[in-house]
Amino acid sequence: SLTIGIVGLPNVGKSTMFNALTRNNVLAANYPFATIEPNVGVVGVPDPRLDVLAGIFGSAKILPASVSFVDIAGIVKGASEGEGLGNKFLANIREADAICQVVRAFEDDNVVHVDGRVDPLSDIEIINTELILADLQTIERALPRQEKDARIKKDLQSTLEATKQAQELLESGTTIFAGAAKAGIDTALIRDLQLMTAKPFLYVFNVDTDVLSDDARKQELSALVAPADTIFLDAKTEEELIELDEEDAKELLESIGQDESGLDQLAHAGFNTLGLQTYLTAGPKEARAWTIPQGATAPEAAGVIHTDFQRGFIKAEIVSFDDLVAAGSMADAKAAGKVRMEGKDYVMADGDVVEFRFSL
Ligand code: GDP
Repeated sequence: SLTIGIVGLPNVGKSTMFNALTRNNVLAANYPFATIEPNVGVVGVPDPRLDVLAGIFGSAKILPASVSFVDIAGIVKGASEGEGLGNKFLANIREADAICQVVRAFEDDNVVHVDGRVDPLSDIEIINTELILADLQTIERALPRQEKDARIKKDLQSTLEATKQAQELLESGTTIFAGAAKAGIDTALIRDLQLMTAKPFLYVFNVDTDVLSDDARKQELSALVAPADTIFLDAKTEEELIELDEEDAKELLESIGQDESGLDQLAHAGFNTLGLQTYLTAGPKEARAWTIPQGATAPEAAGVIHTDFQRGFIKAEIVSFDDLVAAGSMADAKAAGKVRMEGKDYVMADGDVVEFRFSL
């Protein structure tokens, strides 16, 4: 499954957040015998729709989608020069499908900042610089071969061009993720290079709680990293929230003007950054969210449950969550003509409640 690598400079609150994340580990709750790696946190993506479905279908169990975070320790200035820790850091990032940087934006004189001051933009640039330098090395190594190939096979000329455009963009200090669209680079052509800065980025700003309801400040911080997704949380508060029962947690969240915890927001944002979406199934046994790539067709969605479902796909019986809830039951939704039969070309929509018809 897809994973998000968490990176950040020392003392930004990475461990604090990650500990809270792993305390929330859904693997621990749903698969008691699963081996859980200490640096991996698998968190449920909260979906209130599942509770509603469980009510309608009398489901015994609720299974939300999940998203995996990997703690990637050890960013150091000079990581791209590839010594010891630096090498391991880059290797771990290569394996992740998206990058989540935790950025310190909280003020606290008792917590030393590695550079002596709180400066979110500078923190972001330090990490970007290491990744950009590593990508430039990858390109420099690839170019001689690409130039040779392009002389022999003319259709590889466009790949070579795209690589050179990427090199220029990186040399200007911009990541592929942030700048490729604007620079008109067709990233599909350079996918084989597996550039790190081509991965989707997500930023967690670790802020003081007063910033959580300060939209102007939040916009200022988001602007530093556009077009990346951003979320804002106070890692210290998240650590406290994890210890509280539902009611007390709700009260604490209300007191800081939030209706969802930072960790829950992180799960949603992570899911989105990875380009994923869910569809829903429900019955007496369980109400469940299944994970598919955005844009997946009905047979592809069926394949997530079982490969046989995809192979033997006939059609999907689909009702939108809202229509189902408005009707009150599956039978009433059918009677109201709200249940559609969709074929193999149907592209799944968020909130589809599905039953597949297949032959084995
Ligand atoms: P890491 O090095 O990035 O993993 O940072 P840690 O999670 O170990 O945090 C470094 C220090 O900052 C610890 O003393 C934390 O208690 C403190 N800290 C983390 N998050 C916050 C925060 O949101 N606010 C404040 N005031 N302190 C924090």
